[in-house]
Amino acid sequence: MSKNKLIHKPLFNPEGDTEVRNRRLIGGNTTNLNDFNNMKYSFVSDWYRQAMNNFWIPEEINLSQDVKDYPKLDEAERKAYDKILSFLVFLDSIQTANLPCIGEYITANEINLCLNIQTFQECVHSQSYSYMLDTICSPEERNEILYQWKTDEHLLKRNEFIGNIYNSFQTNKDARTLLKVMMGNYILEGIYFYSGFMFFYNLARNGKMPGSAQEIRYINRDENTHLWLFRNMIRELREEEPELFDNEMIEELREMLMEGVRQEIAWGHYVIGNDISGLTPKMITDYIEYLGNLRWTSLGYEAIYKGKEKEPQDMAWVSNYSNANMVKTDFFEAKSTAYAKSTALVDDL
Ligand code: ZN
Ligand code: ZN
Repeated sequence: MSKNKLIHKPLFNPEGDTEVRNRRLIGGNTTNLNDFNNMKYSFVSDWYRQAMNNFWIPEEINLSQDVKDYPKLDEAERKAYDKILSFLVFLDSIQTANLPCIGEYITANEINLCLNIQTFQECVHSQSYSYMLDTICSPEERNEILYQWKTDEHLLKRNEFIGNIYNSFQTNKDARTLLKVMMGNYILEGIYFYSGFMFFYNLARNGKMPGSAQEIRYINRDENTHLWLFRNMIRELREEEPELFDNEMIEELREMLMEGVRQEIAWGHYVIGNDISGLTPKMITDYIEYLGNLRWTSLGYEAIYKGKEKEPQDMAWVSNYSNANMVKTDFFEAKSTAYAKSTALVDDL
């Protein structure tokens, strides 16, 4: 296959290859049969089980304390809450719309199974924000928050970076652009959500908006599996198509990650700044650069930000909220639902 050629996945394809060892992430001859018995990508069975165990329903989380807290948030907290929610709605919406575009070119059916489940979960996330907004504020406030990117240039700029990467694949249907879209997903799942998540967790540790933080913890748990999926997809693609990962491409991917980190830090400073009790701009910078290192080294490359290789001590509380392994006893067992019965979360990122 030429270095950059990409073929559209066939649909009904009785002549497709059923031989597992011939299965390929891209450029394969798939039958599209949902075969759970013969899988090439061994992580998929664990991933599938985890994703199914993670099933949750936004309305099962009680927001009555949040209804009382929201009007009492100080101005900086309310502004940050609204803007971060607006950004998260955008991210989950564009994920929902874009994931099927990736799936059209993935010729390993078991990977498409995962992408479809991910798409479903992104829908649930978008709906959870609607539930939060409908519960805590008026319809006018809600609509203002949903479409803030139309009036806030910072928010628009943020959405443009990821939106343009995804858009480029609408016109350039080639392997290099697909890889960049996969990297865009990885950055979105692994870096972009985080200053938002940490803000909600910080509110919760200050005793405010506990229901919102719980919603976010469920979302965070799903996003961890999405990160796991795309990390593995990128690594598998590198095994199968090593010529795609030339020095120029690796440099481009690295630059994308660094731009994602820069944007996340600038955004964190803009929405959170120095006005939120419990968070400072330095904490945001340190944490996001640490995440940048974690994501890039998880792909097998050298750390980018020197001295930021370890989780900053003053941010250790974030994992108490975001790490499902640590919270399942006090958090997941504390709610009365039969769904969240997952055992240890496989999270080796
Ligand atoms: Zn999501
Ligand atoms: Zn996601």
